[in-house]
Amino acid sequence: MAAQRDWYEKDFYKVLGVSQTATAKEITKAYRKLARENHPDTNPGNNAAENRFKEASAAYDVVGDDVKRKEYDEVRAAGPMGPFGGGFSSPGGGRGGAGNMNFNVGQDGLGDLLGGVFNRGGRGRGASAGGGPQRGADLEASLTLEFVDAIQGITTTLYLTSDAQCTTCNGSGAKPGTHPKTCSICGGRGVVDDNQGFFSFSSPCRNCQGRGVIIEQGCPTCRGSGIEKRAREVKVRLPAGVADGQRIRLKGRGGPGRNGGPAGDLLVECHVLPHAVFGRDGDNLTLRVPITFAEAVLGSDIDVPTLGGPSVKLRIKSGTQSGTRHRVKTKGIETPKHTGDLIVTVEVQVPTSLNAEQRAAIETFAAATTVSPRAHLADATRNDSRPDPTDFRSEAEG
Ligand SMILES: [Zn+2]
Ligand SMILES: [Zn+2]
Repeated sequence: MAAQRDWYEKDFYKVLGVSQTATAKEITKAYRKLARENHPDTNPGNNAAENRFKEASAAYDVVGDDVKRKEYDEVRAAGPMGPFGGGFSSPGGGRGGAGNMNFNVGQDGLGDLLGGVFNRGGRGRGASAGGGPQRGADLEASLTLEFVDAIQGITTTLYLTSDAQCTTCNGSGAKPGTHPKTCSICGGRGVVDDNQGFFSFSSPCRNCQGRGVIIEQGCPTCRGSGIEKRAREVKVRLPAGVADGQRIRLKGRGGPGRNGGPAGDLLVECHVLPHAVFGRDGDNLTLRVPITFAEAVLGSDIDVPTLGGPSVKLRIKSGTQSGTRHRVKTKGIETPKHTGDLIVTVEVQVPTSLNAEQRAAIETFAAATTVSPRAHLADATRNDSRPDPTDFRSEAEG
């Protein structure tokens, strides 16, 4: 799985110096040549060659394998899905149609991903059921993912069971060889008008249930609905840095179009689970780190964990105050555009119980402390510069 995270960023064809349409034979040939030229045995101590050798091997590992190559091509064809949210509006309360789909994710240990798919904006089939091309419905999926996966990006497969156009009748609902007839009551409009004086009401045609057509012999597969449930896999690549609540639009991955119309889109709403210790602020990671009173006073180099990497040393200067923020550069969220920082907030811990030795030390410290930290507050009361509005004498005398 980890390897797939960088599938989108890395052009394995380019690494091997072949075109995307290269045959398996051409790919193998290109790889062998690169491997021969850059092999560590023939280039001892040449780091650049060793890197080229490793890159070529990694590339060949994927595009040299028919199955992996197909997946890789799909992932890259899916395109970058960010920045998201740009240019599409929330469907609002369009989830009324939920319940006729289910959705699950489970691949390569991703059983912790939870989700649900909702049908959105189901289009009326009505009068246009037999008409021109219709764009498929947009589908919504919600995806819950681990903090780390959201930060690092992840490639996964959504397994959807969704309504799809019936393959037996191509969505007409009529038994193959027969055709739906235009409804004689509504003339195919799917609605009937009822004139009552000044007012004209339109109501769905009862004869055809608003479909505009009458199916005399229903399709045996879909029982006349024109729709069948079909399991479908959708490759999704979430880029690094997906935020909680972010919505990602996958063009053309939604419901199928009708009569040659284009497919709708799949909207994936991401929910990111909180991390036990790390938080997030834009591209920065946040972390609260407790320090002792002594560390704050005397200064100290402390170990601070990073997300997915080794811990780093953070210098706490002597006299560091509780609640101050310290920046660890480039240990934040790495997106294709920018790498954030890790913002460490130190919290001086006040001991709630002391052993005899500690108590003695603190008492010694207290005895040696002669200046009150509240001296300025006493001064503020005495030297209040605002005149007392009730004290006329002081003003007159002054
Ligand atoms: Zn059918
Ligand atoms: Zn009708």
